[in-house]
Amino acid sequence: MLGRIIVKPVAKKLMDAIVGMASDPSMMPVEYRIPGTGDEIVVNNCKVVDVIHGRILNNATVVIRGKTIKNITQGSSPAHIHGRALDLGGRYVLPGLIDAHCHISVSSTFYILPTIGDAVRHFRQIRRQWPTSVEAGVTTVRDTGSFPLMLKGLIQDVEDCKLKGPRVFHCNSMLNVMGSHPDIPPHHINPLAKPASLAMGSIGADFRSDKELARTLKTNLPGASFIKLTVDRHSMFQSKGAIPVYTDRQLRTIFDFAQTHGLPVACHCATSWGLKRMLDYPVHSFEHIVSDIRLPDNVIQILADKRISVVPTMSLGSAYVINSIRAHIADQWLNDFVENEIELANDYLKNVPENQCDAKIHAASLKRMGLYCKRASGHLSRKHLYLPDAPNFVRVLTTGADNLIRMRDAGVNIGCGMDAGMPLVYFGTLHREIELLGRIGFTNLEALRTATINNALILGREDVQGSIEEGKLADLVVVDKNPLDDLSALEKPVLVMKEGRIEHSLLPIWKSAA
Ligand SMILES: [Zn+2]
Repeated sequence: MLGRIIVKPVAKKLMDAIVGMASDPSMMPVEYRIPGTGDEIVVNNCKVVDVIHGRILNNATVVIRGKTIKNITQGSSPAHIHGRALDLGGRYVLPGLIDAHCHISVSSTFYILPTIGDAVRHFRQIRRQWPTSVEAGVTTVRDTGSFPLMLKGLIQDVEDCKLKGPRVFHCNSMLNVMGSHPDIPPHHINPLAKPASLAMGSIGADFRSDKELARTLKTNLPGASFIKLTVDRHSMFQSKGAIPVYTDRQLRTIFDFAQTHGLPVACHCATSWGLKRMLDYPVHSFEHIVSDIRLPDNVIQILADKRISVVPTMSLGSAYVINSIRAHIADQWLNDFVENEIELANDYLKNVPENQCDAKIHAASLKRMGLYCKRASGHLSRKHLYLPDAPNFVRVLTTGADNLIRMRDAGVNIGCGMDAGMPLVYFGTLHREIELLGRIGFTNLEALRTATINNALILGREDVQGSIEEGKLADLVVVDKNPLDDLSALEKPVLVMKEGRIEHSLLPIWKSAA
């Protein structure tokens, strides 16, 4: 009570002041206006990547009216142009990318120092993630666990044009039995977590009893477009072991609530125990990939038959295998493919651009991983140190990859996300997950579909986004090369449009406040 009356408004004021310090004009939308024109944009001289039919529409013209695509033609431009033409010089246009698993109000860190300076640094990192996403071609994100009050503030800033960012669909907090995944008391990451949560909200909506669950479901509902559960019974951290799980009665309560409110349920699930248990419930998606066993074909077929999507976040397989931890991985998991992925991940971590992660936050994470590795033989979690269990993560790239390919072959809808917001996994790099899917065995078209039409299907928005089609939102990404030939084309978009508005451009057009 006292917290609500006195502490909460003070905490909110302090938070607003810190967020103000963390703001930066470079994160604000640039006005890419079309001087003296009507409300149509005619994008011509381009090649449209049709992700539905797997083809390129050469010499295409895309007419955009307001926020949507009015029509697409090939050959000569339409006779009546009411707006300004945008000549793309033969470049490729693909649909705005969707990141289906991320945490855009979380600052990719193992630890936050209890100082104002570090708080500002982390808020700046969180704000920077929004423009960085758009600049990398991501026009939509599905946030799978947030600090709800802060997330809503940032969404509002995007709507008020104070921040450049993607549209966001979210679940608010993750719905957890007290002590279950991510099984870290928040004050072990941030000593000021408790007072901060009054202004930011909490990433876990933890409950201790059936009564608390009923209350938590309601408080976590406003604005949410899905419910996020975590269903594994083992910690993902070295030396932690078993963690609490929902009772059957609690699961029935959650799914009844979800059905009443028309909300899909997404389940964090990296193990066969969690997956098999949840097949008795109307799950919408499994997040991450089961890696502890080779799943039986009949189980995979059930996923396909029930139209359950999977967002495998394969990048996690190598994200935490920095060089200092390789000694802890048994040879049986280190085949050539895994070795190559570890090398690619380590190369990336050596040169992370500042817009993807603040240099000091990144350096602190690498240092902390090194420190954890040195102590890995002890009971780290007792000392409040949380080392991702690298041998299990590596299995994502072996057993997990095998499960994933068989899911694809069975017709399971595979989405794309990489858990950006977690330590060492950064926004602006979704292309790395797409390229990894390519190396695992997806065709370039299949890999591109995961981040476009497949993710749109997961959001239930396949009628309005996920491909370039008449009537859909004008979310466009322009790249120099054909991504169906070479997925590295996605690494540097030259222009990004969200709902008919150019949000990012390296091309010399319209960049003026005129
Ligand atoms: Zn996640």
